[in-house]
Amino acid sequence: MITPHYTNTYSDTRGLSSEPLTFTQAIVKGIAPGGGLLVPLVIPKLSLDQIAALAELPYAQQAATIYQSFGVDLAAEKIEELMAQAYSENFDTAEIIPLSTVAPDTHVLELWHGPTSAFKDMALQCLPLFFSAAIDKLREQDEAEEDFLILVATSGDTGKAALDGFKNREHTNIIVFYPHGGVSDVQLRQMTTQRGDNVGVFGVEGNFDSCQTAVKGAFNDESFNELLASEHGLRLSSANSINWGRLMPQIVYYISAYAKLVTSGDLLLGQPLDVCVPTGNFGNILAAWYAKDMGVPIGRLLCASNKNRVLTDFINTGTYDIRDREFVLTPSPSMDILISSNLERQLFELNGRDSDAIRGWMDDLRNQGCFRVDAQTFAALRSVFCSDSVDNDESLQTIREVYEQHEYLLDPHTAVAWKVAERLREENPVLVVSTAHWAKFGADVYRALNGIAAGAPLPAEVADLSGFELNDLIARDYKAGCIPTPLAELQSLPVRFSEVCSGSTEGVEAAVKSWLEQ
Ligand SMILES: *Cc1c(COP(=O)(O)O)cnc(C)c1O
Repeated sequence: MITPHYTNTYSDTRGLSSEPLTFTQAIVKGIAPGGGLLVPLVIPKLSLDQIAALAELPYAQQAATIYQSFGVDLAAEKIEELMAQAYSENFDTAEIIPLSTVAPDTHVLELWHGPTSAFKDMALQCLPLFFSAAIDKLREQDEAEEDFLILVATSGDTGKAALDGFKNREHTNIIVFYPHGGVSDVQLRQMTTQRGDNVGVFGVEGNFDSCQTAVKGAFNDESFNELLASEHGLRLSSANSINWGRLMPQIVYYISAYAKLVTSGDLLLGQPLDVCVPTGNFGNILAAWYAKDMGVPIGRLLCASNKNRVLTDFINTGTYDIRDREFVLTPSPSMDILISSNLERQLFELNGRDSDAIRGWMDDLRNQGCFRVDAQTFAALRSVFCSDSVDNDESLQTIREVYEQHEYLLDPHTAVAWKVAERLREENPVLVVSTAHWAKFGADVYRALNGIAAGAPLPAEVADLSGFELNDLIARDYKAGCIPTPLAELQSLPVRFSEVCSGSTEGVEAAVKSWLEQ
C-alpha cells in the first residue's frame, strides 16, 4: 500500500458546499449544490519507484492501490474486491489496457477492450460498483432509504457504457435516452439489445440537444422528483462525466501505462512522456493532468479537438467563447461539444483553487457565452497544455495514412489525436490515447480507407449494407484485427427496446412512468 489509510474529503470548485464530503458521499451526490464540481482535498503523491513497482501488479490491483492512496472511505478489502470485479473477464484481454508501439516513440494506449468497445468502460465498469457500495454505506448510517434511478441522455457511446455498467447492480435502475435516428446502426443495436432487469432505453424525437434538454428538464422538475420518491421510492441521479467516480478510474491508466513503458524498456524511469488525448468534455485529459500532478513524469498534455475547436481556441488564447460558434457534426461525435464540463475542475486546479474566480468565470459563460481567465492562470495552462484541431476530411485521411504506413487501424476519434500529436510533438516520446475500436464507426472508417470524403454518401455497392456487414467487409479486406465479440454478436441478439418518446420533458417523464409501470 502506498500511503497509510486516511479519509480524503471533497469540496467544490465554486465554494458553495456547506460541508466537506467523503468519497462515497461525493459520488452519490455527483454535483455540488450551486453547480460546482467536487474535488478531493488531498491529491496523493507517488515516488518514481512506487510508480514503477505498480507494473508488477494486475491492473485491478493497481487501481485498488491508487484508490487507497486517494483515501476512499471503503475498507481496503472491499475496494480490492470491487476492482477485481470491474477489471476482469468483462475485458477482452487480461492486460486491460494494452499498449501498441505503432511508430518509433509513438505508443497507442488502447482503452477500448471493455464490453462496449469505447474508453467510457474504463470508468463505467467501475463507478456503478462504487455507487452500490456507497448506497449500502449510506443505508447503514441511515442517510438514504431510496433506490436510485439513473437517467442518461446520450449521443451514442456513454449510453451503452452506462447501461452495461449499471445492469443488475443493486439499488439502481437506469434509463437511457438517445436521439431517434441520430446514432449509428451499431450504437443503436448496442443499446436496444441491452440485457438486465433494471434497464430501459428510449429514442427521443429530435437531435441530441433536444434529448439532453428534455432529460435535464426531468431532473429539475420538482413535482416529478416528488412523485418518483413517494410512489416508487426512487431518487434521480446522473452518473455523468463530471462525477468524481468517473474521473478517478481514468487516472489509473496513465500511471499504469507509464509504469509499463518503463518495464518494457521504452522509457527510462523519470523520462518525460507527452500525452495526446482526443478531447470532448475534458475528463480524459484532466485525468492525465492528475496523474502528472501525482508524480508521473508526463511532459506536455496535447489536447486534440475536432472541428468543434472551442478547447483549442481556449488553450491558445485564454478566452472560452461559444458566442458565434456553430455546433458541427463530425466523424468523431463523442468529441462534438461546445461546453466542456470538466474544464472547470482543471481551471480550479490551475488557479490555486480559487473558487471565487471560478464562480465569476462560470457566471460569465452562462450570462455572456464567454469568459477569459487571468494572466497567471493562462500561464499555468500554457506551461502544460498545447492544443490543435483537425477537420473532418483530415481525420479520415489520417486513418488511411496510418493504415498504409503502419497497418494499424484507428477509429476517427483516435485519428484526431494521432494527427495533433504529429503536428505538436517535440523530442519526447508520445502516448496517443485511443478511445474507441474502429468497428463502432465502420462507415467513416470505410470512407477513410477508400478515399471518400467525410459526409459523402457511400458508393452503391456498399450503400445498402448494415453497419455490421460493412464491418465484416472491412475486416475481410484489410488487416484490421477481429471485431470484438460483443459487437459481432449484436446482430443475433433480440431487440428489447424500440419505443420512441416526444422530445420534451413531458415526453421523457411519460417514458419513465411507463417504464416504471411495466
Ligand atoms: C467520450 C469520448 C471522448 C471524449 O472524452 P472526454 O473525456 O469527454 O474528453 C473521446 N473519444 C471517445 C470515443 C469517447 O467516447
